[in-house]
This record gives sequence, structure tokens and C-alpha cells, in this order.
Amino acid sequence: MLAPISPFDKLTPPKAQRIHYPRLISRVTGTAVAKRIEDHQKLPPAKLLVVVAHPDDEILTTGTLAKYAGTNSIQMVFLSMGEGGHDVSGLDLADHDEDRYDRPQNPQLAWVRQAELAQAMQVLGIQKPPVLLRYPDARLSRYGDPIKAELKAIIQATRPEYIITFGPDGFTGHPDHVAAGKFTFDAVHELDAEDPDARTRQLPGRLYHFAMSQTGYQTFKETLGKVFQPDEAALASHPMPQTEKPFVARAISDLKRRKVEQAWKAIKPVDISPTDWRVELSPADLLRKTVSMASHRTQFSADEIRLFDAYFKADPHEYFRRLDRFA
Ligand SMILES: [Zn+2]
Repeated sequence: MLAPISPFDKLTPPKAQRIHYPRLISRVTGTAVAKRIEDHQKLPPAKLLVVVAHPDDEILTTGTLAKYAGTNSIQMVFLSMGEGGHDVSGLDLADHDEDRYDRPQNPQLAWVRQAELAQAMQVLGIQKPPVLLRYPDARLSRYGDPIKAELKAIIQATRPEYIITFGPDGFTGHPDHVAAGKFTFDAVHELDAEDPDARTRQLPGRLYHFAMSQTGYQTFKETLGKVFQPDEAALASHPMPQTEKPFVARAISDLKRRKVEQAWKAIKPVDISPTDWRVELSPADLLRKTVSMASHRTQFSADEIRLFDAYFKADPHEYFRRLDRFA
């Protein structure tokens, strides 16, 4: 009797492979920053530059990115890998699932979030690899000088027509978000003062920040209202379809346990003026927005994504406000 032959018999198994986690910056030296700046100087031009603190922050603009990625070059910059973040995937890749800002570096989570980000970028159709600066999560404000120097090199090389980042409110009040916006604002204004390049000089007027409009905020509160006023009686009388209520109730109790509602309550709506952007999203843009959000599996539970999907559909817009001041 012949032993069955497997097609794998002739293949040599690879040697055990080690996973190489990304190197995160823990000590900033002038030489290391100078070397990184040399790399940034080789970046190709981009029409739009987006600077954020963590992988998943981009969800504030993913509908717009999905809409324009096909015809415009977009360069994303992430200041940290979010390695101190939580894991709600159920895989226990971080040691907690709460929305906290004070966790130590976890290179494994940095690696996972890089993989999640790669998938999100693919869903959005963004061709250029994101620039990942890998500064310590939750500690960005300590690295103002090197981050600003790197951002200036990135801006000079990519020569963007528009830049989007966080405003002084950090959208959710996260200190890293505020730092990302402030360093970008400072980098643009320093270049404006130093750089003879006419295009760079126009940038202060083309700097925008993520904003929640008054109407968007009303919709946000109505869609996610139970997070603001967690009340079973209110949920029972809410006009949403009965079939939606069990998942909303589950999402709300999970979000409350993880203390996420604190960040949401920090969101402050603004009046959108004619100099601001209001981008209208098509059903295809919204689908990409939700699916790219779902790529961040450690960051958002399925219930949370479903809740946000309802909100995205209820107010299919993204808003960006001119970033004129940072005080
Ligand atoms: Zn963030």
C-alpha cells in the first residue's frame, strides 16, 4: 500500500520566522532625526497632506479621502503608532480595552495597528504609503522640536495644496490630537516665515482642521443619544426600529464600561462658515468609510462600527474648518 502523497511533501518548510516589530522612538537624537529628514526629503508631491496622531484618527476624514483618492495624490502622516491603545478585538493584543491615554509602549500592538492601517488605506484607495513617525503614543507633546522639524521637511517635499489636521480642541480632547494639530500649525507658520517658496507661503490659508458642525452634532447626539443619556426608558421610546435596539443597548453598555463616552462628550460643535469645507459623501464613499473603520479591529467593536455607520448615513458629510489660530 502506497502512502498518500501530499503536494506539500516536496516543499521545504521555511525556517522559523521571527516577527520583527516596528522600532518605536524611545530616545530622540539629532543624528536620528537628521537621517529621517533625509528620507522625508525624497517624498513625491501630494495634493493633500493629512497629519494625525494615531492610526484610526483618519476616520474623521475617510469619506473625503475615499472620494478624492482616485484622482488626487494624498499623503498621510501618523505621528505615533498608537501602541499604548486598547484592543477590543477579543484577541487580547493589549492588556486592556478601556479608552485610556497612559499605557506603556507595546510593540506588538504597534505592529497590529500598522497592519490594520494598511488595510484601511487599501479600502480607501490611497496609493502612497503613509509616513509613520513612531513617536511614543500618549506622549507626543514632549517631542515638539523633532516632530516640527520632520513635518517641515515633509511639507517642503510634498508641497501640498491643502493640509488637514486637528484643531485646538483635538476633536475629542486627546492631548496627542492637540499636539498633532499644534505642531502642524507651527510647522506651516515657521515655513511661511522662513521659506521663499511661494507655494509654501500660501499654506497658512489652506490649513484646515476636523470639525463637527452644529447640524452634524445634533445628528450625532440623536444617533448615539443613548451614550449621552443612558436610559433604558428613553431607548424603549426611541423611534429607531425595534430590531436595532438590542445592538444599540449592547454597544452603549460596552462603550460605557470602556469609558469611551468621555471622549465623545468632549466633542464641541462649531459654526461652519463659507471659508470652511463641507464635503458631501455618496453611498460609495460611506461604504468605504465604514469598511475602512472596520479595518481597525483592535479599536472599534462591531457594535460600535454599526452605531457609527448609522450616524454616517444620517449625516453624510465631513466638515473641515480653516485653522487660523491655535490658542
Ligand atoms: Zn487618536
